[in-house]
Amino acid sequence: MLAKKDELIILPLGGLEQIGANCTMIGHDGEWIIIDLGIAFYDRLGIEVLTPDVSFPVSVKDHIKGLLVTHAHEDHIGAIQYLWPQLRCPIYLTEFPAAILRQKFKEYKWGDEVNVHVTQTRNPIDIGVFNVEFVSLSHSILGSCGLNIKTSAGTVFHTGDWKIDSGALLRDEMDEERLIEIGKGGVGCLLCDSTNVLIDDEIGSEDDVREALIRVISRYKKERITVTCFASNISRMETVFHIAKKVGRRVAIIGRSMHRMMEAVAETAYYSKEFKDNVGSVLTEEEVVDMPPEKVILMCTGSQGEARSALHRLARGENRIIKLGSMDVVLFSSKVIPGNELDIREMQNLLVKNGVEVVATDTEDDIHVSGHPSKDSLVKMYEWIKPQTFIPIHGDARMLYAHKRFAEQSGLKNTLLAESGDIIRYKDGTLEKVRHKDISFDAIDGDNIIPMNATSIRERDVMSSNGHVSVSFVMSAHNRISGTPNIRINGIHVSRSDFKKLGKWISQAVVSEVLKKPEALEERCESVVRKILAKHLNKKPVVAIHVHKTRS
Ligand SMILES: [Zn+2]
Ligand SMILES: [Zn+2]
Repeated sequence: MLAKKDELIILPLGGLEQIGANCTMIGHDGEWIIIDLGIAFYDRLGIEVLTPDVSFPVSVKDHIKGLLVTHAHEDHIGAIQYLWPQLRCPIYLTEFPAAILRQKFKEYKWGDEVNVHVTQTRNPIDIGVFNVEFVSLSHSILGSCGLNIKTSAGTVFHTGDWKIDSGALLRDEMDEERLIEIGKGGVGCLLCDSTNVLIDDEIGSEDDVREALIRVISRYKKERITVTCFASNISRMETVFHIAKKVGRRVAIIGRSMHRMMEAVAETAYYSKEFKDNVGSVLTEEEVVDMPPEKVILMCTGSQGEARSALHRLARGENRIIKLGSMDVVLFSSKVIPGNELDIREMQNLLVKNGVEVVATDTEDDIHVSGHPSKDSLVKMYEWIKPQTFIPIHGDARMLYAHKRFAEQSGLKNTLLAESGDIIRYKDGTLEKVRHKDISFDAIDGDNIIPMNATSIRERDVMSSNGHVSVSFVMSAHNRISGTPNIRINGIHVSRSDFKKLGKWISQAVVSEVLKKPEALEERCESVVRKILAKHLNKKPVVAIHVHKTRS
């Protein structure tokens, strides 16, 4: 499928009706670009990370002119390291996400082969038939941009993630002036972040968070403080350095991802003297234990309860040097990403059981602020861009439905509700859903990338809730069973006496199937074994039949 010269095709592959795995393709005049390629967190069935399904982009690989990255959050950038070898297209992004990506690429053999174009804001570039401008927007990570994509069939503006922050701390300025100019130039379709559309309250600023953290931290005179936040939230880290200085504490950074983020900043223009001094003054873990608790602030990742994070290791007592206990207070300067509630709760419970005091946004709601737009900000964006048509993106179904309604109430016309896999045509000022492609997600499973609807994942799901039963037997050349079938039951509780009975019934059933006819023997055995297990155990496990044939 390729778009014609007089049309634009918009094809979201992830991030619409689910949280994360953001990815949208835009097609025009026989060419494609991809916007973002992020991951979603999963944490079930031994799978931690999902990526968009790239079978379609791979099928039109020769027509893909570039992968454009709005910013360096994992839900926008995280799948590139897994999927780039299948796509092998040039990547366009601004300085900070480029530094993050380069760090990731160091771990791969093909890392040097990627053509990474560092682009400047306010500097439109031609990428195939698309003329693309990166427009600076504020968000909770450095270097976030919206994308203005001009073609001969019309212009699309993709906001990526953004917010309007009234304070002075978020250094990326919202390029309001450019947004207004872009709106005046005429935008055919606006694709806009829907994350906060269900929230009525004003979204505070990073400056408010700084005040709140000073207030809370100043309350503790004897205790050691740990602040957990996203590694990518550099402003939040700077706030912690600022507060530490103010209250006479020194900062230690625990965990690799935060150190890596600091290194990435060091490669960019954001590396100010102050930042350099801050990083230069951090304590090592060994130094932390020699300091009085009231003189230290630890900073670490793990705000989402991730099992491998620095905070989770501290909570489990697995950090070799630092142990948290009754002299510790942990502040969660973060939101709860939908789906992570239980993991976070579990880790907080673990901390509390170790004597640690936990402070989170449920009691101190201003120690974190969202990086996404409030309703007031959304209205401003509509007014700046003045789009002819509108598609809400970046949100689950509730958010997208609410955003469509809100945009209409705010005066936008020609709004369209889309989900991942929808093929949308923009032509002559109107949007039309042409078709829906069924798309699944891919799972990063060990070293493999496999579709979530693969048999192996389905089997794992069934095994995890219903167990596994295998029946193997030896069959002679004359189609007779030698000896008795060997039966193994895993993952289902069966008492010794029940196992004996089951073994007898299964053996009899298998022998009678063998006697009937040789055709489709394994399938027939599987079916009778399944029936026996369903009847006597009320379980539907994965059943495996192994027939070993002998020549004699
Ligand atoms: Zn995002
Ligand atoms: Zn983001």
